[in-house]
Amino acid sequence: MKSWLLFKSCATERSRSVRAPKPGEFFLKRLTVLSLAFLLAACAGLPNIWGSSLPPVPTPTGFPSHTPTITLTPPATKTPTITPTFTATFTPAPTLTPSATPKPAKTDIKRAIIISFDGMRPDAIEQAPMPNLMELMAGSAYAPLTARTIDYPATSPSHASMLTGYCMEDHGVIYNKFFMYMGYAKGTDVFQLAHEAGLRTVMVVSKDKMRQMAEPETTDVFEVAYGEPAIQKAVLPQIEQDFGLMFVHFAGPDNRGHKYDWMSGEYLKVLREGDAVLGEMIKTLKAEGMFDTTFFLVSADHGGHGGNHIGTTIEDYRIPWIAYGPGVVPQILDLQIYTFDTAATVAYALGLPIQPDWDGIPVYKIFGEDQLRIHEKYPCKT
Ligand SMILES: [Zn+2]
Repeated sequence: MKSWLLFKSCATERSRSVRAPKPGEFFLKRLTVLSLAFLLAACAGLPNIWGSSLPPVPTPTGFPSHTPTITLTPPATKTPTITPTFTATFTPAPTLTPSATPKPAKTDIKRAIIISFDGMRPDAIEQAPMPNLMELMAGSAYAPLTARTIDYPATSPSHASMLTGYCMEDHGVIYNKFFMYMGYAKGTDVFQLAHEAGLRTVMVVSKDKMRQMAEPETTDVFEVAYGEPAIQKAVLPQIEQDFGLMFVHFAGPDNRGHKYDWMSGEYLKVLREGDAVLGEMIKTLKAEGMFDTTFFLVSADHGGHGGNHIGTTIEDYRIPWIAYGPGVVPQILDLQIYTFDTAATVAYALGLPIQPDWDGIPVYKIFGEDQLRIHEKYPCKT
């Protein structure tokens, strides 16, 4: 606006140029001409006459720093946008791990299976090897060294402790043979509790003396099957019908151990055969959509060495003790576990009442809970 006024005044001056200039007029005219020249120079976009003083250092410094910031930012923002997208598509990989351990809570347990490999030593599992059991073990709470049977490591008394939760003197199964006059294992066993709770109870065993472990009234199904193929044939239809509590007993390892010795090729071979049956059981449970709600407790009645298990070395007493299922926190258990803890733990897993007179204590630790009570010492007289 200022320039415009200047220009206007200049134009007016020109139109009056006819008459003689007055003394002050010459100076005014020169000023006007100079102003006009300045104005024209500004309009022509020529380098400013103040150029040297106006755009000194600040302008150049400002521009270069702005320009890279603008041009660099787009690529920078592009790269991260792409990378996260890829990372997101790779994230599903971890989701594969949960599917192997998609364990719901303990409260989701709908049924339990107790599996006893008669005479199986913990160190035989990997030596056999038993891949299906090992796969369970990978997600299990497992006691490789600290679980043991009762002081009389024989099949009937030990199994009676395993399933009743009592010491031998309390369940009364003191012989390794079933004499009818001796009656059934005394006390409240886990099959009775399960049956009273309305659960379907199943026993598939490969020694008929196992009948003594639970009264017929408390077992809806009791089958004796000799040899692994027969056990499989008996067990799978029972799984398909669903159940609340199942006991599966494999006599093979004990038989072969007595005949060929513990840890012999024949002993390990029959463990592999038993493991194959376990694999079929797992397959059936999965096919029926029951696997993820099934609690497993895999154990044995005793170990053995030198063709027998009379209790002269730790190998005779030490048993595997593997808990797997909903809510089970995978871990190596280092607390003292006795075979009568099996009944108590299974009862706890199924939400059945823990009997105050039981010698066994639930292994709460397998569910990541505080171990409320422990065995300070061996609680039995026998
Ligand atoms: Zn046995």
